[in-house]
Amino acid sequence: EKQIRSLGHVLVTGGSGFLGHHIVSLLSSRKACSKLTVLDLKPPAKPVAGVNYEQGDLTDYVAMLKFFGKHKFDGVIHTASPLMTASSNRDLAYKVNVEGTKNMIRVAQETGVKAFVYTSSASVIHDTTSDLINANETYPLIMGKEQPEYYTTTKAQAEMHVLASNRSPSHPKLLTTAIRPSAMFGEGDVQLIPPGLSAYYRGQTKFQIGDNENLFDFTEITNVAHAHHLALAALMATREREDGGLAAPLNHEKVDGE
Ligand code: NAD
Repeated sequence: EKQIRSLGHVLVTGGSGFLGHHIVSLLSSRKACSKLTVLDLKPPAKPVAGVNYEQGDLTDYVAMLKFFGKHKFDGVIHTASPLMTASSNRDLAYKVNVEGTKNMIRVAQETGVKAFVYTSSASVIHDTTSDLINANETYPLIMGKEQPEYYTTTKAQAEMHVLASNRSPSHPKLLTTAIRPSAMFGEGDVQLIPPGLSAYYRGQTKFQIGDNENLFDFTEITNVAHAHHLALAALMATREREDGGLAAPLNHEKVDGE
């Protein structure tokens, strides 16, 4: 059995969204943080008790610097993004995913955040047609002209910036990482299963594209939330070791799956 240490004050951006809500629920039920704050454009549909929900736009650097300065977050999990289905709005995708993520990293560096986890996407190594079999993080990013989905290019650009900010020369203490979920399903999903089911109920299943032999990985949402918890906990543990002082154990529960 492993002791779980408090992650301190954690910010989840996009915490009113599908994945963000599951991360907040999981961290809260595991008592993983001393305080949990959500930043989102919209209020939560199902607020989690004890969580501090704040509305704001992460593309506003001045507002974010004030917000981070006020709260002094220890860890950040950055899931906020426009919907991929809105990817025809290139300006919005660039503004939120690239410029907004740069804002988040900048204010994290300027206010002493210890660890930063970015939700990227499995699509950053996919050109939408070639097969990827047992692909891993050593595969090159597919972006720009090679990437048919502009949204994915912005996710890749954001990921590059986040990873380049890990122990950067100007702010060597901030630790960062990125997680690349594949398509997610589970409670609260509006993008994956519901549109497929609606098409089925409307009888729109008369055409088949391909030979029905294609494989695709889907991920259950609570597993993705769990991965974010483990990623933040690992970065925090590294940081605590390097800083020389270990935080007091918060509880003795086992992290599922460990
Ligand atoms: P979602 O739309 O349910 O949640 C995103 C949240 O971000 C929303 O609540 C939205 O209000 C908020 N947001 C958007 N712009 C903002 C801004 N400027 N300031 C503050 N908040 C803002 O999306 P999701 O499906 O939960 O996806 C979460 C993350 O996971 C995204 O980064 C997405 O790229 C990534 N991802 C999703 C999938 C999937 O299958 N849904 C797959 C791979 C990666």
